[in-house]
Amino acid sequence: MTAELRELRGVGPRLESSLDHLGIHTVQDLLFHLPLRYEDRTRIHPIGSLYPGARVQIEGEIEHAAIVRGRRAMLVVVLSDGTGRMTLRFFHFRAAQKKQFSRGTRVRCYGEVRAGYQGLEMIHPSYRRLLREADQALSDRLTPVYPTAEGIGQASWISLTDQALGLLREARLELEELLPQDLRGNLRLPSLADALNFIHRPPAGADVAALVERRHPAQQRLALEELLAHNLGMQQLHRRQREYPAPVMAEATDLERELLRRLPFRLTGAQERVIGEIRTDLAWPHPMQRLVQGDVGSGKTIVAAMAAARAIGNGFQAAIMAPTELLAEQHLRSFGEWFEPLGVRPTWLSSKVTGNARKAALEAIGQGAPLVIGTHALMQEGVTFGRLGLAVVDEQHRFGVHQRLALIDKAGAESAHAHQLIMTATPIPRTLAMTAYAGLETSMIDELPPGRKPVTTAAVSNERRAEVIARVAAACAAGRQAYWVCTLIEESDAVQAQAAEEVAKELRAGLQAVTVGLVHGRMKSADKQAVMDRFKQGEIQLLVATTVIEVGVDVPNASLMIIENAERLGLAQLHQLRGRVGRGGQQASCVLLYGPPVGHLARERLSILRETSDGFRIAEKDLELRGPGEVLGTRQTGMLQFRVADLARDRELLERIPPVAERLLAHDSGLADRLVRRWIGDASRFAGV
Ligand code: ADP
Ligand code: MG
Repeated sequence: MTAELRELRGVGPRLESSLDHLGIHTVQDLLFHLPLRYEDRTRIHPIGSLYPGARVQIEGEIEHAAIVRGRRAMLVVVLSDGTGRMTLRFFHFRAAQKKQFSRGTRVRCYGEVRAGYQGLEMIHPSYRRLLREADQALSDRLTPVYPTAEGIGQASWISLTDQALGLLREARLELEELLPQDLRGNLRLPSLADALNFIHRPPAGADVAALVERRHPAQQRLALEELLAHNLGMQQLHRRQREYPAPVMAEATDLERELLRRLPFRLTGAQERVIGEIRTDLAWPHPMQRLVQGDVGSGKTIVAAMAAARAIGNGFQAAIMAPTELLAEQHLRSFGEWFEPLGVRPTWLSSKVTGNARKAALEAIGQGAPLVIGTHALMQEGVTFGRLGLAVVDEQHRFGVHQRLALIDKAGAESAHAHQLIMTATPIPRTLAMTAYAGLETSMIDELPPGRKPVTTAAVSNERRAEVIARVAAACAAGRQAYWVCTLIEESDAVQAQAAEEVAKELRAGLQAVTVGLVHGRMKSADKQAVMDRFKQGEIQLLVATTVIEVGVDVPNASLMIIENAERLGLAQLHQLRGRVGRGGQQASCVLLYGPPVGHLARERLSILRETSDGFRIAEKDLELRGPGEVLGTRQTGMLQFRVADLARDRELLERIPPVAERLLAHDSGLADRLVRRWIGDASRFAGV
């Protein structure tokens, strides 16, 4: 029995559509819309006992009410309960409201106590007049406050959830218990119905602090169920993908052999192993779905190139997609250097390719151009691949899952699906991988190319900027090259560019013997490339850059990096930046310049970087300090949005999920389906369809 929202009192077409916008389509959804916080209206506090800052309920008689006209009209009401007086102030009011506060009327109100000119006051408290005996009873439950949207007041939420809980109690709403007993029992978690009753109407004296942080067992139970549903949904999605046919690429080809023969280095053992894993997948008639993890500088690009060579050599197209223009351009160059001598010219497509050039690129892609490189423009409408066999997505966590799937859906022939290789530079904490990438095969490049030494890292106050500049001068004089990275968080390209220009000016003035170059996101692609080329060739000794260089830039002779405002950046980003140096033979160093005073979190971030260059440790710490949305960069993409769960807070719950998920998928797919439907809806929500 699933109750319809329409059956509830007070739900008409207007409210129904507002609820719809919040993703609430059924009475069950309503019960999964959880309170943000709670108000304690189980008690009345004597006014005489109050102090500013308290959020409390009071009750008293109206002494006086007046509309005071100043710069803005205000309704001022004075209430007394015999122990003291409270002034209530309303800036938004209707004229009729004053009449409600006639002298002697009993009023109960709830609000935050503040210190005013005439003693204690409350601004815009919620209030209720006590006109009848029946109004007097105090609730024995805490009052929930729901997250809401325009047009739905708290009173509506209370009425709606009251009705929904009523239906649940009378067994007129069926809410199946879906959490397997072993998971629930081991943690001593309440049943679903008990949990929902508790969360929506906690008894007086409940642990409000735990509730607000969502650490209460009643909420943890829901979080556990949601995490399980997510894991199952992801796995089902990937399993379904795996059932499609995909091109078989079993033949080792001359293209691969030639590519390998011409490389100026030998592959590391880890690279060889991962390439082997990929080849096994590609020889299989179903789509590969493999995640390759490897720290910054571990050499993921050549691994992708070897996979591309297998696809191309077998007569299919390979597409390489990167999240930023600069990174995609870097790939264009690396792949160009490797493949052009072998007779394979990459086709380039980004959103900046327009007009006739775009038309030509689209046509080439449609006709089966063997190697296609670009940004997310590759997934946009109007791009059709003739024979896509392999899609490589670099730094995929910046894309949403749905974008990744959009690319493989472009495989051309209706029935065939491309193989998929996902590469990520930020090592993903295991807990996140278990959720966001559940059901993907994973490979790990856990070895750096030989000769790399860890980058020495120091945090230096901006007050010692002159010393740092002198250090750059010395390094350049000794034939080394350096980056100076200007960072501004969440500012526009324009503001960043300007800041970088000013720093470049300062450094040019201070370092007369050094050739200083500048790159930022506002420059034309060709100009950026020209500067990068000159840096690569050693003509530019010091490169001032915005965080556009964060990913993919590769200049082995650069061995010193200065990062401005390092205290404002996240750990993963700092780690990425630092990974740009230490790629050549010499000892590299990184200076994290910070502007004092530095907060506690920032200090912790800087010291982690000083201590370790282990990407995984850094990633775990990053997750702890910042939360998964930012770590995965999913805020924007809408992936991994949970109703109750929080990956950082609920890490311990996450640990319990894989064995249970495996069991359900193997032996109780019906239950798995019901869990996914309850929490995610149609699994295609992941795919953004
Ligand atoms: P990332 O994993 O960060 O994408 P890249 O693929 O950009 O790393 O590789 C970083 C640098 O290391 C490049 O200059 C690349 O040519 C070089 N490289 C890759 N593999 C090896 C290897 N086996 N031996 C020596 N250098 C390598
Ligand atoms: Mg890379």
